[in-house]
Amino acid sequence: MKDTLDCDVIVVGAGGAALAAALSAHGEGARVLVLEKAPQEMRGGNCRFIGGGTQFWHKGLSEILQFLPDLTEEEAQSMIVPENSADAWYNKIMEVTEERADPKLAEVLVTESNPTLRWLMDQGLRLELDADQAVREGAKLRWKPQGVVVRARGGGRGLSDSLFAIAEKKGVEILYATKAVKLLCDSRGRVGGVTAQDKDGFRDIKSKAVVLACGGFESNREWRARYLGPGWDLVRPKGTRFNTGDGLRMALEIGAQPAGHWSGCNALAIDYQVSRVPEGEDIAGSHTADDPKRIDYNYGVQVNANGVRFLDEGADFRTFIYAKYGALLLPQPGAMAWQIFDARVIHLLEEGYRKGSPVMANSIKELAEKLDMPALTNTLNEFNAAVQENVPMNYAIRDGRGTVGITPPKSNWAQKIDEPPFLACAVGCGLNFTFGGIKINTRAQVLDTEGDAIPGLYAAGELVGGIWHKSWTGGGGVALNYVFGRIAGANAAA
Ligand SMILES: Cc1cc2nc3c(=O)[nH]c(=O)nc-3n(C[C@H](O)[C@H](O)[C@H](O)COP(=O)(O)OP(=O)(O)OC[C@H]3O[C@@H](n4cnc5c(N)ncnc54)[C@H](O)[C@@H]3O)c2cc1C
Repeated sequence: MKDTLDCDVIVVGAGGAALAAALSAHGEGARVLVLEKAPQEMRGGNCRFIGGGTQFWHKGLSEILQFLPDLTEEEAQSMIVPENSADAWYNKIMEVTEERADPKLAEVLVTESNPTLRWLMDQGLRLELDADQAVREGAKLRWKPQGVVVRARGGGRGLSDSLFAIAEKKGVEILYATKAVKLLCDSRGRVGGVTAQDKDGFRDIKSKAVVLACGGFESNREWRARYLGPGWDLVRPKGTRFNTGDGLRMALEIGAQPAGHWSGCNALAIDYQVSRVPEGEDIAGSHTADDPKRIDYNYGVQVNANGVRFLDEGADFRTFIYAKYGALLLPQPGAMAWQIFDARVIHLLEEGYRKGSPVMANSIKELAEKLDMPALTNTLNEFNAAVQENVPMNYAIRDGRGTVGITPPKSNWAQKIDEPPFLACAVGCGLNFTFGGIKINTRAQVLDTEGDAIPGLYAAGELVGGIWHKSWTGGGGVALNYVFGRIAGANAAA
């Protein structure tokens, strides 16, 4: 570690929230030091593995085009993008979190999402179209309500590389393979730096303020078992191996208030074989060719190893349900399931479904035999008989085309599964990130257990608790990073 380190603001972590905070603090004139636990070649936290899509309020296509200035006229003509109003997104956050989201933080997240994205573009970030949540409508693509429309150019990897490049160009100092292990407090409880550790040992680094932006505890096996519950120690994290709850521990040690859903997380169905890859080996990130996520519930059904359905595949658009459906795999036999589709929808599935090792069959009987699942035929026959075929199918809206008389129902997009060939894909649970965190106010100041701000301490990103409970709105994580990273950086600098 360098002998002299002079800074106003220490940012702990180097993911999306941390780099947004660093840019923001730098923009306010502060000398910023970023501490990244990972070595340089593995830098960037979960941000490096994400799809990079971001949620924000906008007025529809005319405004989206301002964020995507490189789109051709022809491309723009082929898009139908409904307005995503701040109210609509806020209400959706409240709905998916079962009204548990901190209303003040949720309001800031939503209202600041649009101006913050503009600010990041001013910093040099470039965006591209994200068609993941669009459906074909004739020659056009239509985005679903609250669907993510833009992502960072190059996805998560592009976002991370781009934020590092911008920060480096501005002269933000970044120390790699250097982790914060303790917050330094003066006798009045003001945070004035951190104890950091690198290969040479420990040293104290002083600053005027500290921003914690070093992620959740998804890669800490012991904390997963402790807080998420039995079995979670065996679940495969999908992102960085470096998020082990260090920031949470450091903050709690000095009296920060826990907030949010500590026994909850964003966990999803991933390719079964990938779910068995040992921790410590990286797996492919979102939107890469080998992305193992398997969340196309809306197009088919999911059964456990006994051939029994156990969730409503059409409860909502996949982006609002997938994060809570991963956990439902754990109590199933073998902690796994099979997702089943037929010829009507195979072409709609994400590319990843054809990779991995899907089981194909030309009849339901053959599929049941191949999966050694005698009950499957009955399950699919019952499902097919329950589909309300008189209601029109429409993947762009919650179409209400459900099943009747079976439990659980499929509430929307129910369609018979009877047209060969059939495709079955084995899935296990993967963990994106944990919901539990520490409490902040709308200025991103960390609050203590009495609700008072801890002087000198700010937080942003995944380690902030209070918004996500039970589930989340897809693209909300990146927005959270940007918005509270920017706020934390600016206030820490001030
Ligand atoms: C596979 C995957 C896909 C996702 N896709 C999306 C998406 O498309 N859109 C979306 O909105 N959200 C997505 N998310 C959610 C995502 O986790 C968050 O949006 C976001 O990346 C978290 O940002 P963060 O900055 O809080 O944490 P991270 O990006 O994980 O950064 C944490 C940083 O802290 C560092 N660190 C940890 N401990 C220490 C320490 N003691 N000292 C110093 N540094 C430390 C880490 O090395 C890392 O650099 C996805 C998550 C995963 C895992």
